[in-house]
Amino acid sequence: MKILVLIKQVPETSNVRMDTSTGTIIREGVESIVNPLDLYAIETALRLKKTYGATVTAISMGPSAAEKCVKEAIAMGCDDGILLSSHEFAGSDTWATSMILSKACAKIGDFDLVLAGERATDGDTAQVGPEVASLLDIPLATYVSSILKVNNKEMIIERLVEKCYESLLVPFPCLVTVLKEIAVPRLPTLRGKQNARAAELQKWSINDLPGICSEEVGLAGSPTQVVKISTPKVARHGINIKIKDERDMEPAIEALVQFLKDKNLIPKRGQEI
Ligand code: FAD
Repeated sequence: MKILVLIKQVPETSNVRMDTSTGTIIREGVESIVNPLDLYAIETALRLKKTYGATVTAISMGPSAAEKCVKEAIAMGCDDGILLSSHEFAGSDTWATSMILSKACAKIGDFDLVLAGERATDGDTAQVGPEVASLLDIPLATYVSSILKVNNKEMIIERLVEKCYESLLVPFPCLVTVLKEIAVPRLPTLRGKQNARAAELQKWSINDLPGICSEEVGLAGSPTQVVKISTPKVARHGINIKIKDERDMEPAIEALVQFLKDKNLIPKRGQEI
């Protein structure tokens, strides 16, 4: 089997900060890690490799700093890694990102399975997996919780749908996005870390991807634009009651009771609860 795993570099914080003027994520000064949900995709690939025999290639699109994430995938046990990096790729939305990733998969060719995480913890759209499958014109299964059976032509998977699971037979080549339930990701071993340090990553720029031009990627190739970024405001419509001494207590209680009545939070005289 030939397995490709899509991994994204994300900021190591759940508190993602945005640049409100450009609508982009502020990545400076924030440590980057492999998208935690992509570790499940890596683990799934490594388990398939152990059971059925496979080569596993980790692929990431991002700045040169994303090399660290590809190396981490190798430290976990992936055979090799490819970093897709070019200044033309900067500012890509999900569609442009998927375009780049799909061209890389097509260039590798002859793969059986592409694995992706359920979603990235920063962008959080869960669009990239389905878009890559669509661009490659291959079957897609999302929210996969288990791989039940595999042969050289197809596999049977279980996916979470609302409150139940459904089993699907998916022919190869296909793309699968996985849930946390699928497997517990392993930690890199010392030998794995040594392998990663010695590994020569392939670095592909826009010129290495046939059939793609600069108008199709980056901000220019992104059909969606961030028009505004804002934080939801939590408005508390309360009243300010000041109590300086005991004499203020009675009117303060009355004011508070009236406020609660006005909000229908306590019954008015004669009103049923
Ligand atoms: P999801 O779709 O949630 O990811 C699902 C899975 O796809 C991941 O688990 C992973 O397996 C795979 N995957 C996702 N991204 C990658 C990747 N890069 N490499 C390998 N695998 C991957 N970001 C910027 O840095 N600059 C911008 O200017 C910018 N503009 C944007 C404008 C818009 C309108 C939008 C919606 C997003 C923008 N982004 C920008 C964010 C960027 O497009 C997304 O981070 C990226 O496209 C991936 O989308 P996502 O994070 O929602 O991934």
